[in-house]
Amino acid sequence: MPNIPKREKARPWKRKLKSRKPQGGRRHDPDRRYHTKQWQRTRKLVLLRDAVCVLCERLGKVTASTVADHVIPVRMRDREDDRFYDIETIRGLCSSCHARVSGRQAHGKV
Ligand SMILES: [Zn+2]
Repeated sequence: MPNIPKREKARPWKRKLKSRKPQGGRRHDPDRRYHTKQWQRTRKLVLLRDAVCVLCERLGKVTASTVADHVIPVRMRDREDDRFYDIETIRGLCSSCHARVSGRQAHGKV
């Protein structure tokens, strides 16, 4: 008996398994933990504590902080670092300070 392999039925209505497009280049934030409820809560707490951008404050400026920034860049740490949600290691920054600081960190000038 010839053994004819079963052909899979074509099911055009069924979507194919997600073909993950390779992310073009380096994304700024590949860490999934930024999408957790716990992070949302942590971020909120930090922004409540540091309502004013801590870097602007040092310069005598008062700018509302909008970004919760890890003082130690996450990508330099261990993946399993449990201080990810530790508000003591996070500070509130305004978006322009955050852009400046994270840009500098990316170039190795901390
Ligand atoms: Zn600032």
